[in-house]
Amino acid sequence: MAAATAMAAAADGDDARCVRLSAERAQALLADVDTLLFDCDGVLWRGETAVPGAPEALRALRARGKRLGFITNNSSKTRAAYAEKLRRLGFGGPAGPSAGLEVFGTAYCTALYLRQRLAGAPSPKAYVLGSPALAAELEAVGVACVGVGPEPLQGEGPGDWLHAPLEPDVRAVVVGFDPHFSYMKLTRALRYLQQPGCLLVGTNMDNRLPLENGRFIAGPCAPGQEAGGRARALSPPADRVPLCPAGTGCLVRAVEMAAQRQADIIGKPSRFMFDCVSQEYGIDPERTVMVGDRLDTDILLGVTCGLKTILTLTGVSTLGDVKRNQDSDCVAKKKMVPDFYVDSIADLLPALQG
Ligand SMILES: [Mg+2]
Repeated sequence: MAAATAMAAAADGDDARCVRLSAERAQALLADVDTLLFDCDGVLWRGETAVPGAPEALRALRARGKRLGFITNNSSKTRAAYAEKLRRLGFGGPAGPSAGLEVFGTAYCTALYLRQRLAGAPSPKAYVLGSPALAAELEAVGVACVGVGPEPLQGEGPGDWLHAPLEPDVRAVVVGFDPHFSYMKLTRALRYLQQPGCLLVGTNMDNRLPLENGRFIAGPCAPGQEAGGRARALSPPADRVPLCPAGTGCLVRAVEMAAQRQADIIGKPSRFMFDCVSQEYGIDPERTVMVGDRLDTDILLGVTCGLKTILTLTGVSTLGDVKRNQDSDCVAKKKMVPDFYVDSIADLLPALQG
């Protein structure tokens, strides 16, 4: 509460960062903006429940002719599945052949990345530590997938595990959210990565999964780290207890450790996500807003790419987190401060109803 009060006081001047987005300020902002990019979990919905007022706000933005895009690190759904969820929860959006064109998830963007990197490779395959949705997006761009689903240990010990047959033509190991992640899969991934030219790609470095019915709590973040979870292990601060399931970043780290190399990371805050949107939308960064609930992914992506940024307080990050970043001596943390904040994206509605 004290942090919120201090932030509100600091936000009185229009030139301060992290200003509360009043209806008046929102009207002025929206007049200068063509495109709004939204994170999904913690911004539009939590699990299967829409944030109250959020569907109405997005439908009002559509009615004003604003172009919308949805940028999510979640690799467990295809573009089409996200589009169906957006419509089901009342956020609108195109149906039919155009369904999903507004959605830029890490499954789809990983497919675009592999299409670029594997161009010219005959019959490329990927070993996928990930979901059927991730594999579906890769296969849609011509990358065949192997490895999805459970893989039990074969044989009696390490000697046997190392001799399980490998598929030919595997040019990349892709690590996404994989509830079937196992020692056998890790061993197989390592063997592919020891082959010349095999890429290692991670969909994102989120260290926790969102909870279906409420807030989720981010894990520790090292001072001076590049955001997106590339931190050395630290004890979590007392107010940040990691209660939630491990996220994809934990799996990427395991493969990186085994292979002794860094993965190419697709998800926010990597600029690649924005480049995917920009190429398809032809975006002018100065007339684009990024709206998110996480400072270290959504807001950092927006700041890095020269977008206007809005933090919504319906998800992970708090005004206290913003204050800590503003007060930090760390250059990387100082970037993780939004231009504006709202309690909820429903706060945009008054500016759209005038
Ligand atoms: Mg989120």
